[in-house]
Amino acid sequence: MNAESNSVSLRLNLIRVRGAIAEAAQRSGRDPDAVTLVAASKTVDAVRLQHAIGLGQRVFGENRIQEGIQKWPALKEAHPNVELHLLGPLQTNKVRDAVALFDAIQSVDRIGIAQAVAKECDRQGRCTKIYIQVNTSREPQKSGVLPEDAAGLIVTCREQCFLDVVGLMCIPRVDGDPCKDFQLLREIATGEGVELLSMGMSGDYVRAIECGATHVRVGSAIFGARLPFQP
Ligand SMILES: *Cc1c(COP(=O)(O)O)cnc(C)c1O
Repeated sequence: MNAESNSVSLRLNLIRVRGAIAEAAQRSGRDPDAVTLVAASKTVDAVRLQHAIGLGQRVFGENRIQEGIQKWPALKEAHPNVELHLLGPLQTNKVRDAVALFDAIQSVDRIGIAQAVAKECDRQGRCTKIYIQVNTSREPQKSGVLPEDAAGLIVTCREQCFLDVVGLMCIPRVDGDPCKDFQLLREIATGEGVELLSMGMSGDYVRAIECGATHVRVGSAIFGARLPFQP
């Protein structure tokens, strides 16, 4: 695909996804502006990110710190109102870089990481927004705190680490009904007074919005299919 047809499809994809978000929100009696589209931009290069920003996209999510560091500092400097979220797992030795680059971390799932993030936020004078990732489908290969341990982690993050826990995040099971995961995440959030719900990807963001998502993380429906992951 040449550069021009590439940017045309990006435009059409963004229009389509924004339209579907607005429709789903209206259908469930919600304000379309209450749903934030997080463009999941792993493997997408800086030129296409620039296009997406030019088309009005403001919130982006990356999975890997290293890739984020390669692509985003210059773009963020040129576009200070862009908001960058970390969607992928976080290791303690990357916390310093993560806090420096990301405005929100959606993948906090254990106390050790929460403590390290809190320490770096203090050191760098940053107040990174925190989402707790919950393994709603209990799949052993998946990150996230188990549902029964989520409340405890939220309380510890708030009361001992003084972190700004704004939301919960989940990645639903691949086969089966994702609404089970979405509903469980919503119940935990309601129980703990957590406002935001990051749930729904390209295949299920409409259903996620119907289940109360405030943030949907959409990658391939905007940027096209990804090449197989290359380490
Ligand atoms: C890649 C990714 C997404 C987006 O996935 P698509 O199916 O391409 O929309 C959302 N959330 C996380 C955590 C991801 O890694």
